[in-house]
Amino acid sequence: MGKFDYDLFVIGAGSGGVRAARISAGYGAKVAVAEEYRIGGTCVIRGCVPKKLLVYASRFADEFADAPGFGWSVGEATFDWPSLIAAKDKEIARLEAAYRTNLGRTGVEIIEERATVEGPNAVKLAKSGRVVTAGKILIATGGKPWLAEPIPGIEHVITSNEAFDLPELPKSIVVAGGGYIAVEFAGIFSRLGVETTLIYRGDKILRGFDEDLRDRMTEAYTKQGIRIVTNNIFKSIDRTDAGFVGHLSGGGTLEAEKIMFAVGRVPNTAGLGLENAGVELGWNGHVAVNEYSKSSVDSIFAVGDVTDRAALTPVAIREGHAFADTEFGDKPRMIEHTLIPTAVFSTPELASVGLPEHLASERCEKLDIYKASFRPMKATLSGRDERVFMKLLVDGESDKILGCHMLGDGAGEIIQMAAIALRLGATKADFDATIALHPTAAEEFVTMREKWIAPTEAAG
Ligand code: NDP
Repeated sequence: MGKFDYDLFVIGAGSGGVRAARISAGYGAKVAVAEEYRIGGTCVIRGCVPKKLLVYASRFADEFADAPGFGWSVGEATFDWPSLIAAKDKEIARLEAAYRTNLGRTGVEIIEERATVEGPNAVKLAKSGRVVTAGKILIATGGKPWLAEPIPGIEHVITSNEAFDLPELPKSIVVAGGGYIAVEFAGIFSRLGVETTLIYRGDKILRGFDEDLRDRMTEAYTKQGIRIVTNNIFKSIDRTDAGFVGHLSGGGTLEAEKIMFAVGRVPNTAGLGLENAGVELGWNGHVAVNEYSKSSVDSIFAVGDVTDRAALTPVAIREGHAFADTEFGDKPRMIEHTLIPTAVFSTPELASVGLPEHLASERCEKLDIYKASFRPMKATLSGRDERVFMKLLVDGESDKILGCHMLGDGAGEIIQMAAIALRLGATKADFDATIALHPTAAEEFVTMREKWIAPTEAAG
């Protein structure tokens, strides 16, 4: 036994913590991971995975509606929310068990209780009161929903945590927020037949994404019957006989059976004892780290959503892996947080890699823009009123692709592949030289010939 009980003590068994624990143990480190809730973290238990399952469920509504166009007669389709939630729970339990098995296989000790930091090399286990020591401590506690500035009646709202386990589907819902979670859940609820309203504080949802995607997403949601109320926030919420009524900053009210807040997430550092070890925290309580995920204390590290980098599962996994390589594998490496592809699993799906137009135009002297908007082939027979939108942003001088954006079926799958090309520094000429795979929507990215000209320039 060395100087410490463990070489590495990980707090939090989510995507980043589990990857770091497994890889470090693979290098021969003695590792323990503490988890107070369920093994798997936000992504597996109440994030990406269950969300995508609900998205799939919601899209069946379209499949049934489109089927007659292809010769199918479908009887009256009915949907049962408790059956979906039970199936989802079964899958989550299977994944949790797989995480547990994989950790066990690499010899990582799983400690199922809350752990807090007692000092640079000491961790206290809440249930047993035991204090254990470790050469290195990794904070991988993730984040949790934030409820914005306190307002009267905030105790009535649900967050994504509860949305995954509602005993029954409400007849109506108002979702507050205009980011990933709000837009995804609004899409899920609406397609499952819930009368859905989005309330957003700004003038257009999905701030940060390319303006064309934001406009088209707004248009698509509005056309589907999702009501989008902009430039408003809730000032207070009251209970009513049928649910709740929210009073708006701009006057007026919104009533619904449920109100869900998705206005951002905060790092899980409260009460973690980081101050006991002198760990510096950032503006919203996140652990401040350097490019090797090291905090202000030499023996304490942090990865994933508890740091203020990109709050995305694959990023947390990479950070956890790089930490293990660096600290236990003698292979120091850091993660480049650039060209991270991202998708919003709305319907239509939205995905991007690289810069949106407003940033790309600041980066280069001359920006060439290519856009395509077309009716997808499937819609020709289904009769569905929908369009796919694709956009390429090209540095007019170097010919390098700076941004690749899409709204439509399979956007996430397509943009993942485009991300490889952008990473390799692909030029527009490389895209043009690539032979199309026909008939697909993705082929549009390699057949865009005409530069887009802004209407005012075109007129001039
Ligand atoms: P986001 O940061 O995406 O969105 C938060 C939304 O809440 C924004 O529209 C924001 O407005 C609004 N907001 C912020 N503060 C207030 C306030 N005080 N009052 C009213 N509205 C407010 O956070 P999410 O919670 O949706 O998701 C958290 C993170 O999780 C994401 O950033 C993403 O990294 C990750 N995630 C990724 C997913 C994916 O990859 N598909 C899916 C879900 C989550 P404004 O834009 O004006 O600031």
